[in-house]
Amino acid sequence: MVKTFEYKVYAACAAVLALTLSAMASMPLLPKPAECRFTGGTCRNAAVKTAIDKSIPPQGYALSVAPGGITIKSSDEAGAFYARMTLRQLETKDAKGKNVSYPNCEIKDAPAFKWRGMMLDEARHFFGKAVVRELLERMAQYKLNVFHWHLTDNQNWRIEIPEFPELTKRGIWREGRCESESPLYYTEKDIKEILEFAKARHITVVPEIDFPGHLGAALRAYPQFACGAGKKNILCLGNPEAVAFAEKVLDRVCGLFPGEVIHIGGDECPVMNWEKCPKCKALMAREDIGAVKGLQPWLTRRLAAHIKTKGKRISGWEEIAVGLGKLDKRGESENLASLPEEYLPPKSSLVMGYHTKPAALAANTGFDVVSCPTWHCYFDYQQKLPEDPHRYHRPDIRWCPLESVYNFDPYEGVNPQARGRIAGVECCSWTEKTRNVTELEWKIWPRTLAFAEVAWRNEEPPKRDFKEFCERAAAHRRRLLAEHVNCAPVGR
Ligand SMILES: [Zn+2]
Repeated sequence: MVKTFEYKVYAACAAVLALTLSAMASMPLLPKPAECRFTGGTCRNAAVKTAIDKSIPPQGYALSVAPGGITIKSSDEAGAFYARMTLRQLETKDAKGKNVSYPNCEIKDAPAFKWRGMMLDEARHFFGKAVVRELLERMAQYKLNVFHWHLTDNQNWRIEIPEFPELTKRGIWREGRCESESPLYYTEKDIKEILEFAKARHITVVPEIDFPGHLGAALRAYPQFACGAGKKNILCLGNPEAVAFAEKVLDRVCGLFPGEVIHIGGDECPVMNWEKCPKCKALMAREDIGAVKGLQPWLTRRLAAHIKTKGKRISGWEEIAVGLGKLDKRGESENLASLPEEYLPPKSSLVMGYHTKPAALAANTGFDVVSCPTWHCYFDYQQKLPEDPHRYHRPDIRWCPLESVYNFDPYEGVNPQARGRIAGVECCSWTEKTRNVTELEWKIWPRTLAFAEVAWRNEEPPKRDFKEFCERAAAHRRRLLAEHVNCAPVGR
């Protein structure tokens, strides 16, 4: 009797779900294409023909759905892939999941930015391969193409480095915030699996391994690489073995990750330890470094030169360019061009600006920049929903509402001639306050929908229409919920 009842409930739920999926099968397009014209009628069960057209911009495509069939033109494989992602949103199926049809249309589309990134902090909270794969799948669906993987920090070290086995033994805090999933780090085999999965979806993976600050987990495992006194989360730059440690770790990372960019963090690095350390002072004398603030740039330049020999370039948070002690990293910085060269990273560095003014300053000074200002791109900041059951960083002062994400202007403060320096944009999920995947999804969705619209389309801000966006986003939210993704309400 109970079983029959349960079956009936299950069958009813399944019927509702099938109907719901069917009813919302054809989705309003998100991100919105550059040009889209619906020509009336539908095309059913048609084969898709693809063709190369070198006049189409990289990653762009032309999609034609007509009674005679479907044609995709692009100049590269990524473009054809994104056309298929668009087709998937246009698709309608019957309740049995058959008889696929598409509205007849002509679409021409290309991305506004080549770097459309999403950062996940797995140093603070380890989610594991299944969650990462799911995230990559969703990123591709919304045409994001860089997965920035924050793998090390003060709390934990999440990447196997065979030369330094203690990193993943003593560098992992197994209590408190971490769930009991084992082994709580990624082996080289795991990483290769994720890289293959990402590559199939035209996503580049950028690992972040922090030097010289945010290094507490590594220095718990290898305390000999910290300065003798002070808090143990900063590398001792005066110790040649410590610097060699950083280079060997990066050698391994460069060997694993095929992408050009390796992120070395570089943020929030206090100089107090170095000021008191005889080895660091000796280094300053040896290398003629006039002030202690010159030590971090010294390391940045050295690591950049090291990985350049492997065909890579470094990325770092804005402090690598504009956070050198006396500079006000909130933006009232002096002209970088007036700084001695030894206080700056190499011009080949990619600067991640997490505040608007430093991002613009770095671009105006000639650095390539990925812009991710907290107010527009930090999904660990609270959303300002009327009701929100989850925890956030300083919810009294740190906000990132959906409308703010949607209105993000990556060119704010950037000189017209420096616009080409904005390589792209990135949304970031730091996870000190995120305890599980349910919370992570709530914080990511629907904000990622608004972010994707900026990353791919970047319509001039006066032309943006938040109300119209919300209507499209609400349809996508229904789909996400039907596919068991925890998505916050669409609103402010
Ligand atoms: Zn030292």
